[in-house]
Amino acid sequence: MEALQEIVRKVWGYDEFRPLQSDAIEAVLAGRDSVVVLPTGGGKSLCFQAPALAMPGTAVVVSPLIALMHDQVDALVEAGVAAAYVNSTLSPDERRRTADDVRAGRIKLLYLSPERLTTERTLDFLETIGPSFFAIDEAHCISEWGHDFRPEYRMLSLLKERFPDTAVHAYTATATERVRRDIARELHLVNPVVHVGSFDRPNLVYRVERRTDRMAQIRAVVDRHPDESGVIYCMRRADVDEVCAALVELGHKALPYHAGLADDVRTRNQNAFIKDRAKIIVATVAFGMGIDKSDVRFVVHAGAPKSLESYQQESGRAGRDGLEAECCLFYSGADFQMWRSFQKELPAEAAGAAAAILDGMEGYCTGMGCRHRALVEYFGQSLAEEKCLACDFCLDEVELADDSLVTAQKIISCVARLRESYGGDYTAQVLIGSKEQRVVEKGHDKLSTWGLLKAHDKRQVRDWIEQLVGQGCLVKGGEYGVLQITADGRDVMSGDFTPRLLKASERGGRSERSRTRKESKSEKESWEGVDRGLFEALRQWRREKAEARGLPPFIIFGDAVLRDLAKFRPSTADALMQIRGIGQKKRDEYGEELLSVVVDHCRENGLATDMEA
Ligand code: ADP
Repeated sequence: MEALQEIVRKVWGYDEFRPLQSDAIEAVLAGRDSVVVLPTGGGKSLCFQAPALAMPGTAVVVSPLIALMHDQVDALVEAGVAAAYVNSTLSPDERRRTADDVRAGRIKLLYLSPERLTTERTLDFLETIGPSFFAIDEAHCISEWGHDFRPEYRMLSLLKERFPDTAVHAYTATATERVRRDIARELHLVNPVVHVGSFDRPNLVYRVERRTDRMAQIRAVVDRHPDESGVIYCMRRADVDEVCAALVELGHKALPYHAGLADDVRTRNQNAFIKDRAKIIVATVAFGMGIDKSDVRFVVHAGAPKSLESYQQESGRAGRDGLEAECCLFYSGADFQMWRSFQKELPAEAAGAAAAILDGMEGYCTGMGCRHRALVEYFGQSLAEEKCLACDFCLDEVELADDSLVTAQKIISCVARLRESYGGDYTAQVLIGSKEQRVVEKGHDKLSTWGLLKAHDKRQVRDWIEQLVGQGCLVKGGEYGVLQITADGRDVMSGDFTPRLLKASERGGRSERSRTRKESKSEKESWEGVDRGLFEALRQWRREKAEARGLPPFIIFGDAVLRDLAKFRPSTADALMQIRGIGQKKRDEYGEELLSVVVDHCRENGLATDMEA
């Protein structure tokens, strides 16, 4: 382990491990099979890359996507590690050369797709070299219960048959217990060590708003992130094209990504995003698996995804470098209706499971409390802090109605008067005093609760009903979502429990847009002491370097390194050594240039150098 720490310091420039990294690494060094679950950005790659360097021979890494392999191998080679991939992008000659390098022991990490690895030829070849271990990245792809099942991952069960004495290690960010079990079973792992990290991502700020004016809401987020990378997820291709065109019209460098585009266009757009030539990618969920880009500063969902698993995965692409990033979700009741209509086509059992999962998502949207807590609790964990200081609720951005209790009582008593036999839509109609035929025919215009909320429109009342469902005061039952009153709901009636309801929005949702945004804890901390001008100068230097080398900028140095440079402002080689994330090769290669960018900028701007940590 000590030798390994030295390697990590030398190659990656890290002095410390992230939580669970050292445990995960120990399992690899000990040759025990393992399953490691860490959230996106948790630092899974180091868990297999570092021990691969410390152990004799070549480690084989399985990765589902070519783009992902390229990024990881590029980053390793940049850091001075002998890594290679074999996939269809190589010519037969290049493939042969890589095989020779592996045979000669010149490669420490070999990246392969599952299809290639499980061919007879590759398996035979690997038998001759005897890999140090197998690392299965994105291992949830093996499970039908994951959000990204890939049948070719199933073939990996061969590994334990063919290499019974070689350890297999699985890595994923997917949190569910079921997926974890599937991974161990499908891979035939033998008594594996299982490490599950915390799913909370404290550097991400979560915000949720009812979708009222999609473009205005998206613009508000984009405007908060001038010159920063972001992903905007839309539910349909047509939405992608529309939102993208609107952003381009506004002068943003945005590109579309969806399954309707030709493969080469998609690849080109993805590359432009990775290499910072396009700042924003507007995409359907087809986008992102192959994205390791660490400096995504915002992820917007223009519609609600079908599950919190998907949301966690997609929003998790923000802030992988550990710096502050923002995840905004704009939902509408129509999103859930659309998902429900899709579910009708599923077989009964699958439809039931999908419906429960969708309820989880809806509960998150309409929930009235800390978003970080809601997310980790959904995945069966808990949050230690009372306030996360990183969501719209804990930052007090959300305006609550002053008369929540009375409003909730009016709604719940209407549900009671309707004998708990009607859905949210109809209940809202009665509450706003509708004279619609059905209401009159049933005599519900004579109920004492008819028109109790006539000062509001139906959508507002509908929202409040959902908020009460989200807080467990009402539940929806049966196929039609008939509202029923829970024990908590009865406590509301007796005044023993006051639920939280959002302040009524003005027409057109102006109150949503005029929410004041506050700085999150992570945002405050990660900018503390950083000279923004110097940070920009370093980014400019990085951009030029990356352009010249044909590499994505974040592979040269991540934003976290540039922020630290702009904070501590080292002027000597010794001081530069103290900056986390600069390994030996990069120090030799870029050290002098970095120092001169720092020193010149500080001189020109009268800034002190060599700040104390
Ligand atoms: P994951 O695969 O779990 O999403 P990565 O392996 O891509 O995460 O790592 C996320 C980021 O964290 C990368 O930018 C990486 O450089 C950084 N990182 C990983 N381990 C450490 C560490 N021990 N100290 C500092 N930064 C780290």
